[in-house]
Amino acid sequence: MTDVDVAVVGGGPAGSTAAYAAADAGADAVVYEKGVPRSDRDRLGPDSTDAAGFLDYWLDVAGLDVADIPDDVIEHDLADAEFIGPTERVTVDRTGIDNDYDAFGFTFHRARFDDWLRDRAEAAGARYEAGTTVKTVDSHIDGDGHEHTLHLGGGETVTTEYLVLADGPQRQITMRVLDPLLPADTQASTVLSPPDANHIAYQEYRQFPDDVFDDASLKFWWGWMPGETAYPWVFPNQGNVARVGLTMPIGLDIADFDPDDWRLLRADDDKIPSGSEYIHRFLTEVYGDEYDIDTAFPIVDDHGKAGGTETYPISSTQPIESPVEAGIAVTGGAMGATSAFHEGGDHVAHRTGLLAGRLAATGSLEEYNDAWHAAIGDEVKRNVAMANIVGSFGPDDWDDTIRITRSMLDATDTGSVISKSSARSAAGGLKLYGKYRKAKFGLRNGRYVSLHASDYSL
Ligand SMILES: Cc1cc2nc3c(=O)[nH]c(=O)nc-3n(C[C@H](O)[C@H](O)[C@H](O)COP(=O)(O)OP(=O)(O)OC[C@H]3O[C@@H](n4cnc5c(N)ncnc54)[C@H](O)[C@@H]3O)c2cc1C
Repeated sequence: MTDVDVAVVGGGPAGSTAAYAAADAGADAVVYEKGVPRSDRDRLGPDSTDAAGFLDYWLDVAGLDVADIPDDVIEHDLADAEFIGPTERVTVDRTGIDNDYDAFGFTFHRARFDDWLRDRAEAAGARYEAGTTVKTVDSHIDGDGHEHTLHLGGGETVTTEYLVLADGPQRQITMRVLDPLLPADTQASTVLSPPDANHIAYQEYRQFPDDVFDDASLKFWWGWMPGETAYPWVFPNQGNVARVGLTMPIGLDIADFDPDDWRLLRADDDKIPSGSEYIHRFLTEVYGDEYDIDTAFPIVDDHGKAGGTETYPISSTQPIESPVEAGIAVTGGAMGATSAFHEGGDHVAHRTGLLAGRLAATGSLEEYNDAWHAAIGDEVKRNVAMANIVGSFGPDDWDDTIRITRSMLDATDTGSVISKSSARSAAGGLKLYGKYRKAKFGLRNGRYVSLHASDYSL
């Protein structure tokens, strides 16, 4: 006899949704969330990463109906995203993927989104224990079945038949649960090792002057700072507040980069600049001719996690399959479903949670790997292909790609972004298109997976 049918480690979008789906399907489900305080939330909740943009077709990937999302979660409809290279820029006003949402996407209040997902899980009958850390898990797996014992921070234990791992990109529990099921040369703690498989993200909430606050556009600056898929961004919030952030690989060495190549490096840098230094340089480069940054773009210190700033790890690896025969599903950021290219991941976290919870509740978890491949495989393949293409890009490559993309968009009125016909009309377009097709072909039949179900010994 177990205490619960489904236990979930981590109460972010993946974990809350797994608990919702499990409870909705009739299971006794519980989420353990270690609980993080935030200035913009009254109770302890998940570690809500607030840089939240959602593209139109992500609703379908997520399995979410926009009509179900409470009004105060969505902040702005988006008209486009702007990609700004060292000298080139392009405005992309369509995703080119069929969907029913009638804007390019929207920005949302991530803490409220997570609170809504938690409330939805509780309304369906799941328990959500915020302030409870899962310390370790003992798994007992034999020919008769599987049982997992969770050891909680307060000293209690709980047993469950099905375990959903939704502990996000640091994946401390995920790695410890999976390692004993894997051979020595394919350990999860190596494949998913946080310093290698994650980026670090830092952001500040800044009040913007009226004439440069753009509430309908996400903006990304590519080719400005060194490191694979490293870039600053500006995401609009409400009331002229924007999140100015950046993401970069962990542990970069300044000696590997020529400061003359990168707009945000300086000749006398003796280490990679800190997040706050990078943001200050970035704002100065973009807006410093017209504004004094410290007075015109003040940090809004009652927003975000603490003092108007936030620092997070973010998964930047390729997803893993789960040891479903052991009654274990790994979901969302923990499984590496977050895009290593643009770092969007709430949609795939929601969908993998939905699948894991529902399948666990109905005793069909062995279908989970096939189910998530079918649901999010195309999205993962696109994102991994893009990440692979841009992995070694320098500033000039970004400028070239942005220029070609602009020509391709100008040349097409079919709605697609990347197509052979638009590629033909842009100098360099066919080469870029060919690279993308080749990268995607190399990832066919699930080759974007970094750990296979067959790797587990069960
Ligand atoms: C700066 C930044 C910007 C981003 N921008 C976007 C965006 O615009 N759009 C988008 O779609 N995605 C974005 N993402 C990605 C998105 O935040 C993640 O993909 C998403 O949060 C993954 O959800 P999750 O539930 O899998 O994990 P998380 O949201 O990381 O949740 C995991 C939870 O597990 C809890 N936990 C961990 N260990 C334990 C334990 N041992 N016991 C109990 N609880 C535990 C943590 O406290 C946390 O609340 C961004 C990420 C970052 C860092």
